[in-house]
Amino acid sequence: MSELPSQIDVAIIGGGFAGCATAWALRRRGVDSIVLEREPALGRFASGRGAGLGRQLAEDDAITALTIRGAALLRSELATAWRPTGGILTFDDATAVDAYVARARRHGLDATVIDRTAVLAHWPQLERLSIVAGLAVPSDGVIDIRSLLARYADGAHVALGAGVERIEAGGAGARVVTARGSIEARVVVDASGAWAGAITGDPPLEAYRRHLFVLEADARADAPYLWHLGSDELYVRADEGGILTSACDATLGRPCDAQTDPDGERNMRAVLANNAPALARAKIERQWACQRSFTPDRTMRLGRDPQRPWLVWAAGLGGHGATASPAVGEVVADAVLAAR
Ligand SMILES: Cc1cc2nc3c(=O)[nH]c(=O)nc-3n(C[C@H](O)[C@H](O)[C@H](O)COP(=O)(O)OP(=O)(O)OC[C@H]3O[C@@H](n4cnc5c(N)ncnc54)[C@H](O)[C@@H]3O)c2cc1C
Repeated sequence: MSELPSQIDVAIIGGGFAGCATAWALRRRGVDSIVLEREPALGRFASGRGAGLGRQLAEDDAITALTIRGAALLRSELATAWRPTGGILTFDDATAVDAYVARARRHGLDATVIDRTAVLAHWPQLERLSIVAGLAVPSDGVIDIRSLLARYADGAHVALGAGVERIEAGGAGARVVTARGSIEARVVVDASGAWAGAITGDPPLEAYRRHLFVLEADARADAPYLWHLGSDELYVRADEGGILTSACDATLGRPCDAQTDPDGERNMRAVLANNAPALARAKIERQWACQRSFTPDRTMRLGRDPQRPWLVWAAGLGGHGATASPAVGEVVADAVLAAR
């Protein structure tokens, strides 16, 4: 898009999963919007740098409801971005197994308890992982994050290089001032990821950097991803002939802190040395890092702002934003409709 329009129904700040899925859901409801992205391309931060695990059983019920709905939409409406591999969660603590089994039941999600041998049949490399039980979720999968962003953006109005500098509330909405000019909008959606709240003057989110690595190592392409929710938290999945892994590090920092550092690799190798010695020595094909952003109580900040009728939130997607994104888009789009 070369020129910014002078008026729009809905202006969305941020071209990651939160903003692009909101535009996608609004379009399905017949509502016009524009995504204003500061960078020269979409997905330069969390949304373009995640691990793509389509994990439905999250840490609490509210997020699990969104990831289950999100995965259902990924399997049906957005299937070109979804690989139906299934997933396995593993545990070193029986209480945690019971809690996750109970959560799966509450949400009607098919999940089967499996033993250590069944886990290692998929991932023999993790021979030293401390596992009291695994939970197999056959309807989990892997998300092609680039293709998902492209699907959301297909047919959307997107303005790149349009960093939002300030918002002036007034009249029936707000004037959004960007690096490429101003737009009058009836509703503004703050979907600016780690920066959420910065433009509106609200309390910042907490942004935690995590490293990801693709190792030169063999894995079956159709192997279910494995996410160990134990004291040595880690995950692995097959990735184009290699293995994508993370030791689930989480370093609190300022938004934009997406550089790798040598401690990331040291930590990954130490965790793998304890649990998967053969992988610990593998050559690194690629590595990168990015931030997951949380509200202080780790609930997603979605929906209408209680004080400002022109403002709707789509922020704090944390570590499940790729999977939850189609459902986040729906929730936020419905809040936008209610705010008009
Ligand atoms: C290492 C890592 C691994 C992950 N793995 C998974 C996973 O396996 N499964 C899963 O479901 N989720 C995963 N996630 C989580 C998921 O990637 C995030 O929840 C999701 O991408 C957050 O999307 P977002 O749109 O809120 O943020 P972002 O993708 O950061 O998008 C925000 C956008 O807003 C833009 N912006 C900021 N300020 C302004 C401004 N003033 N004006 C205009 N634009 C602005 C930024 O440039 C950015 O593009 C992972 C995240 C990370 C970091």
